[in-house]
Amino acid sequence: MKVVTLASGSKGNSTYLETDSVKILIDLGLSLKQIEQKLEVLQVNPSSIDAILLTHEHSDHIKGVAFFAKKYGAKIYAHNLLWEVLQNKLKDKAVTNKIVLFSDDFIIGDLAISSFELPHDAVYCVGYSFINDGKKISIATDLGHTNSRIMEKLKNSTLVILEANHDEHLLRNNPKYPIYLKNRILSSKGHLSNITAAETILELASYNVKQIVLAHLSEENNAPEVAYNTIKKFLLEKGVEEGKHIFVDVATQNKIGNIFNLK
Ligand SMILES: [Zn+2]
Ligand SMILES: [Zn+2]
Repeated sequence: MKVVTLASGSKGNSTYLETDSVKILIDLGLSLKQIEQKLEVLQVNPSSIDAILLTHEHSDHIKGVAFFAKKYGAKIYAHNLLWEVLQNKLKDKAVTNKIVLFSDDFIIGDLAISSFELPHDAVYCVGYSFINDGKKISIATDLGHTNSRIMEKLKNSTLVILEANHDEHLLRNNPKYPIYLKNRILSSKGHLSNITAAETILELASYNVKQIVLAHLSEENNAPEVAYNTIKKFLLEKGVEEGKHIFVDVATQNKIGNIFNLK
């Protein structure tokens, strides 16, 4: 199984995942042109994408989905509660390609997928776990906090793509952000901070997780080195060494991330 973040952050998200028989995108919050360019860099034919799995209805996750599905025929997968709002947001442009999920667990080709609800200010927001050939990849971004139900899903993952949205100090002191927006981001249904991500990673380290990719970093209230250094320091204080006990990579807004080829 292979995974790579194509874009990650408040301005647009998309992750590419492939197995021997399936190619999928998780979210498509980029323009059609942007996603076409990124897939070209990876030498992936857009017509070979089987499915796009959506996490929730915010535009940084769905912007290009209807256009891409219409042009290339990929099926759009989303939970039935999410479809109730998507119907409007996508203006039915891709209705023929629509797969409505009524169950948390489903299969696409040789990929076993499990979705789980995340606490976020959306109608219905999910994370996903993907299992193939004894490896497990999990994605959890856009969540205000974690709980035992989410941790249960993430544990024993070979790789976890986890949100580290903001540095709380930078956010609280950002003069450009109105107070209502700060409160929304900081709330239990907002986004994980670097510290809450670090706490989650510490727990995951005790559940056999060895590779983390920090994701959905705010360009305004965070930076790759700030997130990485904060988390590395936090872990080290608890006796977990980055690069030895666990590996932490950072996904960014504009660059295609590192390709993780899990064998
Ligand atoms: Zn988002
Ligand atoms: Zn969101």
